[in-house]
Amino acid sequence: MRNVAVLGATGSIGGSTLDVIARHPEQFRATVLTAYRHVDALVDLCVRHRPELAIIADPTLQDELARRLAAAGLRCEVASGPAALVAAAASPLCNTVVAAIVGAAGLESTLAAARAGKRLLLANKEAIVMAGPLLLEAVAAGGGTLIPVDSEHNALFQCLPGGRPELVRSGVRRLILTASGGPFRGRTRAELANVTPEQACKHPNWVMGRKISVDSATLMNKGLEVIEAHHLFSAPAEVIEVVVHPQSLVHSMVEYVDGSVLAQLGNPDMRTAIAHALAWPERVESGVAPLSLATCGPLQFEPPDPTTFRCLALAFQALRTGGDAPAVLSAANEVAVEAFLAGTLAFLSIADVVEAVLAELPAQAVVDIPTLLERDQLAREAARRVLRNAC
Ligand code: NAD
Ligand code: MG
Repeated sequence: MRNVAVLGATGSIGGSTLDVIARHPEQFRATVLTAYRHVDALVDLCVRHRPELAIIADPTLQDELARRLAAAGLRCEVASGPAALVAAAASPLCNTVVAAIVGAAGLESTLAAARAGKRLLLANKEAIVMAGPLLLEAVAAGGGTLIPVDSEHNALFQCLPGGRPELVRSGVRRLILTASGGPFRGRTRAELANVTPEQACKHPNWVMGRKISVDSATLMNKGLEVIEAHHLFSAPAEVIEVVVHPQSLVHSMVEYVDGSVLAQLGNPDMRTAIAHALAWPERVESGVAPLSLATCGPLQFEPPDPTTFRCLALAFQALRTGGDAPAVLSAANEVAVEAFLAGTLAFLSIADVVEAVLAELPAQAVVDIPTLLERDQLAREAARRVLRNAC
């Protein structure tokens, strides 16, 4: 039995994970559910999935959560705060952890799961972008398994022999990440000057949380994924290519030296990647409709436009710079995206904020987590300063 902690259960990935789990009660059980502040949604999930432990990250809401669960007749344990998330990720209540908190807030619980040797299903890409080598060391030290849930990386994992092999020895020439291009594909900079958060969050193919939706619209999401692929598959920047594929049916590809290109296809529904990661090396039904190639229309591929979508170029720049530049990039981006979603920053200025913060904080070597968290805070402060000066 896989006892699964779903960190970020009330989010988009959390919901898809619980949907897959509920289809296979004989194999999977959600034993830990967590949310940030959404007590109502967490209580509803507890009623449905009967976990052993429910955690609300905001400690001021712990009493309310306990009251509401008791009123619903549930005898589930209750905890709150970031330390409770870390403890739960490493606890015997689970052997599998789905890291589906958004942003750097998910880093420490993801690391805790890795250190404790859990099967780690990684959706929280910001954690690996920030702390790639430290996270992979923790997985190795803990003796667990990391399986990527991000659809592109899950596709690569499926197309590579043995999941995460040594690329050169496996004859890999390129990792080709597909990108939908987001809601603003084909637009010029002038056409993007006044776009709203609602427009940016209206993704053509995927239904996702608001932060990753904005990242998809700026192509920062693809940039973070390039860095994620670099760490997961030990791939230098030159080996990773991005191609825009508006239908989001080919989730990524691996090209081998003999000219073979292996692709993973499927309808754009995260339950496929989640079901794969939960059951690997077995396969289970995910609830995703079968792909009908005969009726889905033409599949298009085109190069990305890094001049309009500068965030992709900035992410490649941070990857080539190395050290903690990706962590600085990701922290500045989180602050800029929050400001855009709050209506205080223009869409095109998200890249300006990230670029200014990268210029202000020259990269340093990644030493340990406390240093990295300090740098994360410095990058956030720098981003807020840039925002104040810009307004
Ligand atoms: P979401 O906004 O829908 O959900 C985020 C979850 O994290 C929620 O449960 C929320 O309560 C929790 N959370 C937010 N801030 C928190 C905090 N400070 N402390 C504790 N918990 C907090 O986001 P999502 O779309 O489900 O994405 C989650 C992660 O998965 C992101 O890193 C995203 O990049 C990645 N991802 C998502 C998708 C997708 O299709 N949604 C695909 C690939 C990767
Ligand atoms: Mg993705």
